[in-house]
Amino acid sequence: MILISKKEAIHRQLKRYFTGVPCVRGHVCERRINGNCVDCKSTHDKTYNNKNKERISNYQKTWRTENKEDIKIYQSTYYQENKESLILKSKEYKTNNKEYIKTKATEYRDKYQYKLNSLSAKRHSDKKTKNSKLVD
Ligand SMILES: [Zn+2]
Repeated sequence: MILISKKEAIHRQLKRYFTGVPCVRGHVCERRINGNCVDCKSTHDKTYNNKNKERISNYQKTWRTENKEDIKIYQSTYYQENKESLILKSKEYKTNNKEYIKTKATEYRDKYQYKLNSLSAKRHSDKKTKNSKLVD
């Protein structure tokens, strides 16, 4: 790692710097301009995330619900902009992981058979309702 002072890093508009001096907890690693040692931050984040799993999960669920439309737009834009490489990657993954995909699909089918059945039943009844509505 290249030695770089905080001052110099700020001057170069970098987010991290490295002095080679260990932190309070003895980590010799990069430091963040607006925070502390990268290792300390990582440990702190892991601890925080473990302690607040449910809270974080609820927050994320709420955020996703509130931003459903934005997410859809973002995903569709991203897909359109990266279509060719995404398709290529997907094909590559499928060819390289045939056996794994097969196993997972079988596991999923076995585990969620009841779900698949009820989904299929729902789809079937939806079709019936739609068709009967069309007739009326
Ligand atoms: Zn540290």
